[in-house]
Amino acid sequence: MAPVYLKQAVKTSITETSDVQSAVSEILARIEQGGDKVAAEYARKFDNFSGPAVLSAEQIATARSKVPQRLRDDMKFAHDNIRRFAQAQKETMSNMEMEISPGVIAGQRMIPVSAAGCYVPGGRYAHVASAMMTVTTAQVAGVQKIVACSPPSGDTGISPGVIYAADLCGADHILSMGGVQGVAAMAFGLFGLPKSDIIVGPGNQFVAEAKRQLFGRVGIDMIAGPTDTLILADKTADAHIVAADLVGQAEHGYNSPVWLVTDDLALAEQVLGMMDRLITELPELNRINAQAAWRDYGEVILCSDRTEMAAVSDDYAPEHLSVHATDLSWWLETLTCYGSLFLGEETTVAYGDKSTGPNHVLPTSGSARYTGGLSVHKYMKVVTWQRATREGAKNIAQATARISRLEGMEGHARTADIRLQKYFPKQKFD
Ligand code: NAD
Repeated sequence: MAPVYLKQAVKTSITETSDVQSAVSEILARIEQGGDKVAAEYARKFDNFSGPAVLSAEQIATARSKVPQRLRDDMKFAHDNIRRFAQAQKETMSNMEMEISPGVIAGQRMIPVSAAGCYVPGGRYAHVASAMMTVTTAQVAGVQKIVACSPPSGDTGISPGVIYAADLCGADHILSMGGVQGVAAMAFGLFGLPKSDIIVGPGNQFVAEAKRQLFGRVGIDMIAGPTDTLILADKTADAHIVAADLVGQAEHGYNSPVWLVTDDLALAEQVLGMMDRLITELPELNRINAQAAWRDYGEVILCSDRTEMAAVSDDYAPEHLSVHATDLSWWLETLTCYGSLFLGEETTVAYGDKSTGPNHVLPTSGSARYTGGLSVHKYMKVVTWQRATREGAKNIAQATARISRLEGMEGHARTADIRLQKYFPKQKFD
């Protein structure tokens, strides 16, 4: 039996794409031509902000003083977890060298990019955790120049919590600018900032599209647009917790899909029966976001068994994947496409979003088919080197010359020949 949609989305992320693409390309082109002045105009237009673009040390100190001690401690706790996880990940990558054939040595080196631009979303919520996730990993990777940027609100600028977090985690500069203009300012090196080699971080569809269009001129971590979440639940799941987790993720934004995939009709019906009430109980902004996300993008899919559930999940390749089912090791072994996996009812996505340690900047819109989330690896270039001795040149030069001639690349072949003639003048080679 094919999976049955008990509730199906009426919109997908593709629905909005073309309008966003043309708006973003126009803004990028105008900023590239007009520089700081045009970027500042967009900050006024979209965020009603006309203050200084780059925060001063005094502004950072003022923001710090506004963050209650308890929250500073919480952020230090989260920062410590994120830093330790990133450090452990870094240790899995290493320089190496090997003698690949006699007299020929080859190796790899891990070199961090020199400047990173970390986008911290801030249109709807003050994403303190995104500042910690992006800046900390850049710092652990060894990036020398780290810029954090986040949208200011017209009256108050960037949230003090975001400023505190970015500063705590090691940002060298903090830019009050959001959306396309923030991304462009980091990529083009506006306002006296270093030109970023890579732009990382999550954001809405404008931010994700700006990164996509700039890719090539700068590196990007991945497409990390509107959040999506899929829950796999069997008959042992607690319907109330499943529904609360779906609602919790739907509050991200009006276009943040949440999907339930189950093989238990009774559970599906219970969850469907609870969603509207749980959403209504949220504060107003959160309620408006979650209502639209659930109405337009929410889905409940009934499968015949867990193998089919896993196949549906891999096909969706969700950003967050949560399993409320028995035999968690089977799911861990079987599932292959997700940004981050949350195993068991006891482990909610919000833990990972805020403070567990693994990064919360994760691939969205199905891009988990081909990439994982942000990690120290994204800031590192894996470069290679090689060195041949004269003796080692003998084999490698002959093979190189023959392959080059087969390809029609006579100039290449002669670079090998000339070495053979110089190092082995008395020998004849074919
Ligand atoms: P945001 O900072 O991403 O975007 C705000 C900016 O959007 C504003 O500064 C403004 O310049 C720009 N903007 C708004 N309307 C515009 C328009 N019509 N034209 C051009 N620019 C416009 O903040 P947000 O909007 O709250 O979105 C945050 C997003 O980040 C959410 O979609 C959330 O799901 C996502 N997110 C993703 C992850 C992840 O890892 N994938 C993590 C956290 C958050």
